[in-house]
Amino acid sequence: MTNTAPIRLLIVGAPGAGKGTQATGLAEAYGVPAISTGDIFRENIKNGTELGKRVQEITAQGQLVPDSLTNDLISDRLSQADVAPGFLLDGYPRTVGQVEFLTSVLEQDGAAIDAVVQLVTDTDAVVERLLKRAQEQGRVDDTEEIIRHRQEVYLQETAPVIDVYASRGVVVEVDGMGTVEEVATRILDALKAKGLEPRN
Ligand code: AMP
Repeated sequence: MTNTAPIRLLIVGAPGAGKGTQATGLAEAYGVPAISTGDIFRENIKNGTELGKRVQEITAQGQLVPDSLTNDLISDRLSQADVAPGFLLDGYPRTVGQVEFLTSVLEQDGAAIDAVVQLVTDTDAVVERLLKRAQEQGRVDDTEEIIRHRQEVYLQETAPVIDVYASRGVVVEVDGMGTVEEVATRILDALKAKGLEPRN
């Protein structure tokens, strides 16, 4: 791959596996925008938009927002100019329906996902980390019950997503336990080994 070809990455892992933090650093290293559907939903809820009102209850309960709504949002986001060098998606696709939608959107440009970074973590450690974050950020709705439910939803609905990409040979498994720096280094090393050189 040349240095100018767009690079299209996904980062997946259980909620609270440190995706957001790693996504920011990774996007910077590859010179692409980090796009998080969770962040977009939270921003809309905060600003009281129509979309925000529609997804508020669903996200508070730890359920997945319907594919139709999420796919429209992503399709719109991927049509924006800053996506020309590629993108890093965080928190999307989360269902097989979303994978199919994304695949068809990219196919229209003769494109495909280059790599899926899968952060592998220990569930109990992640729940502990999330509870701490919820307290720090004042996310009072994030009780242990809701956090554990999100882990279940992740396992039930998104493991098949990883299976699809694994069958395409683009999944890069990375140990997600450790410091931010340790995990970041592991991710970059794994992507370089796949021939995906950082630009920054
Ligand atoms: P996250 O910050 O990625 O954990 O997302 C927070 C919440 O937003 C999730 O619990 C879902 O309710 C919703 N959400 C985020 N991304 C998606 C997606 N790809 N599909 C459906 N719902 C999503």
